[in-house]
Amino acid sequence: MMLITHGTVCTCGAEPQVLDDGAVCIEGDRIAAVGPTTELAVRYPQAERLDAAGQLVMPGAICAHTHFYGAFARGMSLPGEPPRNFVEILRKLWWRLDRALDEEAIRYSALVSLVDAIRHGTTTLMDHHASPNQIDGSLDVIAEAVEQAGLRVCLCYEVTDRNGDEGAKAGIAENVRFIRRVRTTGTERLAASFGLHASLTLSDRTLEHAVGEAQGLGSGFHIHVAEDQADQDDSLRQHGLRVAQRLERQGVLGQMTLAAHCVHVDPAEITVLARTGTKVSHQPRSNMNNAVGTAPVQALLDAGVHVGLGNDGFSNNMFLEMKAAYLVHKLAVRDPRAMGGETVMRLAYAENARIASLFWPGTVGSLEPGAYADIVLLDYRPYTPLTAGNLPWHVIFGVDGSHVTTTICAGRLLMRDRQLLTLDEEAIAANAREVAGKVWRRFAESGD
Ligand SMILES: [Zn+2]
Repeated sequence: MMLITHGTVCTCGAEPQVLDDGAVCIEGDRIAAVGPTTELAVRYPQAERLDAAGQLVMPGAICAHTHFYGAFARGMSLPGEPPRNFVEILRKLWWRLDRALDEEAIRYSALVSLVDAIRHGTTTLMDHHASPNQIDGSLDVIAEAVEQAGLRVCLCYEVTDRNGDEGAKAGIAENVRFIRRVRTTGTERLAASFGLHASLTLSDRTLEHAVGEAQGLGSGFHIHVAEDQADQDDSLRQHGLRVAQRLERQGVLGQMTLAAHCVHVDPAEITVLARTGTKVSHQPRSNMNNAVGTAPVQALLDAGVHVGLGNDGFSNNMFLEMKAAYLVHKLAVRDPRAMGGETVMRLAYAENARIASLFWPGTVGSLEPGAYADIVLLDYRPYTPLTAGNLPWHVIFGVDGSHVTTTICAGRLLMRDRQLLTLDEEAIAANAREVAGKVWRRFAESGD
């Protein structure tokens, strides 16, 4: 049992509260109690103490969509003319990088991403993996890194037809194998979904195969939806339907399915997403970087769709993603009222928690009795009053992942006073630089 004392506790749950000189008691992997330090110190005299010394105590951040495998793109040069659009970015960068990944590259891209997540207080992540030359067993390699790190992660393998029939079948097999494996072995922190790339690289035949397998397992999907107009153009041309309609017809959408992006969905598709209970994740930094557009987040929320926040492989500092979400919608519609601070917090905590609940039976993203003890301490000293009512604006204009000093997941300390306890950051970074050099060489030698 551990008692975090003397913190400014921001609960971030259904009814957010800020407790000055608050405490959080952890028992096993769950939160036992939240309340004033004076009260909990009396109630739990035997608990080991962790003095927050006035730091913020918040739930660990959640990332609803990421790609650990993209880590080695950082600083890599792209030969030739720079990509002019989204499809060229896929062809010239991501579909060449993922082919350059071997087992050690998969391992180290996961490890560096996990270090980054612990450092920036992101304790729950939904990863979407691709490594076409190393499909079978690839999710086990990432799972091993996840177990070592101690974070809460949902994995899946990206099924696609861009690597031929064999590649598509191997991707389906990897999802099926791993979903079964997670249900029989592994810790509760590890979860699995069924990964699909995107409508534009998936034939009806492959989708039928994947849907048949996923239904047999009672699994939903994790898929990119209408990230760029190209996905819509392809679907209309080849199938005579818009992407969400096509995916609904194929049986991909539903309560258990997570649709990343949905930048180019129209009102009829938003209705389909709402009716099917499909969850959506929003990645503003990636959307800006790829110049694909701004997702209709408010319209999705108004229609009753649950929209969370992911990072699409950008840094695992979700506070930066929150700031980007807050800013980009205002600029996009030239209205400072767009995407208010409360909405950003809702996406990052309540909505992301709902997405996480697809994969874990307990509550994440909230400090309350019974919730998972996924907790971060931040050395943020507010110089204006901090209340439950104005917390969103402290988070958007002040708080950052770099303030995180201590990270706890499932009741276990993963970082304390900025010292990583489960991963050797220096060794991982040194090895990763060597592995990255090899990945970059294979990348340079490969063609489009
Ligand atoms: Zn993505």
